[in-house]
Amino acid sequence: MTPDRLEKRLAEILPPDAFSTDVAECLAYGVDNSKRSGQAAAVVFPRNTEDVVQVVRLCNRHNIALIPRGRGTGTAAAVVPQGGEIVLCTSRMNRIVSIDTANRLVVCQPGVLNQQLQDALAEHGFFWPPDPTSAAICSIGGNLAVNSAGPRAVKYGTPRENTLGLTAVTGAGEIIHTGTRTTKGVVGYDLTRLLIGSEGTLAIITEATLKLTPKPEAVMTFRALYRSEAAATEAIVAVMQHAEIPSALEFMDARAVQLANEYGALGLPADTQAMLMVEFDGSGTVLDALQPLLSGRFPVDGLLDLQVAKTGVEKHKLWAARKALSPCLRSLAPGKINEDVVVPVSRLPELLAALRAISQRFDIPIVNFGHAGNGNIHVNILYHPENPAHASVIDDCLAAMFDAVLQLGGTLSGEHGIGLVKRDFLPLELSPVVLGLMRKIKQQFDPKNILNPGKAIPPEFVGG
Ligand SMILES: Cc1cc2nc3c(=O)[nH]c(=O)nc-3n(C[C@H](O)[C@H](O)[C@H](O)COP(=O)(O)OP(=O)(O)OC[C@H]3O[C@@H](n4cnc5c(N)ncnc54)[C@H](O)[C@@H]3O)c2cc1C
Repeated sequence: MTPDRLEKRLAEILPPDAFSTDVAECLAYGVDNSKRSGQAAAVVFPRNTEDVVQVVRLCNRHNIALIPRGRGTGTAAAVVPQGGEIVLCTSRMNRIVSIDTANRLVVCQPGVLNQQLQDALAEHGFFWPPDPTSAAICSIGGNLAVNSAGPRAVKYGTPRENTLGLTAVTGAGEIIHTGTRTTKGVVGYDLTRLLIGSEGTLAIITEATLKLTPKPEAVMTFRALYRSEAAATEAIVAVMQHAEIPSALEFMDARAVQLANEYGALGLPADTQAMLMVEFDGSGTVLDALQPLLSGRFPVDGLLDLQVAKTGVEKHKLWAARKALSPCLRSLAPGKINEDVVVPVSRLPELLAALRAISQRFDIPIVNFGHAGNGNIHVNILYHPENPAHASVIDDCLAAMFDAVLQLGGTLSGEHGIGLVKRDFLPLELSPVVLGLMRKIKQQFDPKNILNPGKAIPPEFVGG
């Protein structure tokens, strides 16, 4: 469709300030945190489910691809156009519809920011557990579509465990309501969990009913420094084997500690080869009583230092090393590739050894840190695209990493999703039978393959 005709069609269904075909504006909505970009034909800003239905039906009639977009903070190029799509941005669907503390649920539109929701819930003494570091800048719709989480997932789970139901618009323009408003319910297939993590390829989420959790009274933070990564991973297994599940269990490898130490001038002992940040939450009295027991989980051969923090200031000081890391990595390698692989917790030592070997084999520095309580490690490949030695081996390096992860019983992505950047690796993890079923599911929700085509599933497995 020509730009003029497209503009005319959009004007028939949306007010003038609810869409744009301006090339520069469209380009601004064609980027995400993957550093890739693409040119959309138009960007639309629906206010409610009915607007979304109108846009989907238009796209359906004219075979125009449509990309749902939250705030574009995703890392997998899942919102990046490949040419000529309409980007549907949910930024104006940013209303918290109702907070129902009696039934421990909140209903909100997808464009609400994660932090906006947390702030509103905090006034009632509740929170929604998924807590990506990007909370201040990412949307609930994006969190749901990617099943994004963060440190708290180790205790409280991901969006899949914290969502009761959804309203969504399928690729055929039909409105569906999934799930329940109750914490039990087994009527029909679990379409809520299917839509969560589907990266906008099955339906556009227009409203979510989320499960609330009461805010804990107190948090106790431990920082443990180790002489070796093996000692730290031994302690991770020791912590995770007990009934008191931490509310965060974060790991930094030798290189991560060294970089954070230098960049943040933190004065950590020079022989620190690994660090754990571990939080427990609950009642203050219970945590105080448990402290000696919890402290006893960290001492393995190789423990250099163990500190406990209870006040905000003390905790801030302990987290300084972890917080110094991201800006430091960005300044070292602006083109870095950040993977988020997962392995069973007990296989972490083998994963870290494999990553060390891969780094040496391809001569590319790799820095590892992340949510070790879930076995979810952010593998930061300090890739310099302008370096021909890096460029010639990067694909093999990624393939070797994914191969090692799968050999250890792991999965390619814990929370960042597949998008464009990882889709071609999918057949490494999923069998042709599973990919065939996914293709059929996609066809049922989106018969014309207009919803985020080319993302999350290799195109050859989708069909027309
Ligand atoms: C500094 C920084 C820190 C980060 N930290 C974390 C972290 O700790 N943990 C983590 O998991 N991620 C993290 N991320 C990645 C990112 O923030 C998350 O993936 C986030 O959930 C994306 O939300 P978004 O609103 O930006 O979605 P977008 O990037 O706009 O979209 C992501 C996906 O969701 C789909 N989508 C968006 N809205 C809808 C909808 N309404 N219906 C259907 N599909 C939709 C899109 O099509 C796309 O497939 C981080 C990113 C940055 C920049």
